[in-house]
Amino acid sequence: MPRSDSGAAPTGDEEDRILIPISALNHFIFCERRAALIHTEGLFPRNQFTVQGDMVHQTADEPGYRERRGCRTVRAMTLFSDQLGLTGRADIVEFWSFPGRTEEPRPVEYKRGKSSSWANDHVQLCAQALCLEEMLGLTVEHGSIYHAASRRRTVVQFGPELRAQTLRAIAGLRALLMSSVVPAPVYRPRCHGCSFEPTCLPEQQDRSPGLGRYMRRLFAPPEEA
Ligand code: SF4
Repeated sequence: MPRSDSGAAPTGDEEDRILIPISALNHFIFCERRAALIHTEGLFPRNQFTVQGDMVHQTADEPGYRERRGCRTVRAMTLFSDQLGLTGRADIVEFWSFPGRTEEPRPVEYKRGKSSSWANDHVQLCAQALCLEEMLGLTVEHGSIYHAASRRRTVVQFGPELRAQTLRAIAGLRALLMSSVVPAPVYRPRCHGCSFEPTCLPEQQDRSPGLGRYMRRLFAPPEEA
């Protein structure tokens, strides 16, 4: 997590200067513990899904530019928002031209699966749109998620509900990172695809109340003196 210029954990007025990586929003919506382990503790274990994700991003992560009729495509475009304290990169931003209208930017995020209606992917894409709006002074109405396994796109509309959810996620993630607390594991079906599963042992804790209590104590924040 980016810190203040001094390198010390920021407090009070410095809070606004903490930059949130856009990709961390995806982790945060998926699981707050996962977000804290990656972005506070600096851990990132690999499994088959993370490796597949890396492979899908190999092309999109190469900076580049292409122009075809009616559309400019920018790969690996750097994004930021001063107002929201966000920074990151869009896999692709397409700039569509239509006669008599202002150019329309549309972010495209690559994902490894066949299809998705996951809120975490939509929030990540919406945060990219919020950055583009601030950077370009334009409204970004929709973007897409490209599913590598099916080679299909899902169009995501940036409506008021998704925008509000994204702003709540930014505030929640910032509070989590500021606290430096790693939440205890909570078992959910999504744990089975998570690369932290072998260390979180969420299912075992769910089955064994004693182990669960022990782990919650282990991860509880220290009490104030
Ligand atoms: S295994 Fe479950 S509790 Fe642990 S980080 Fe992953 S999703 Fe969160």
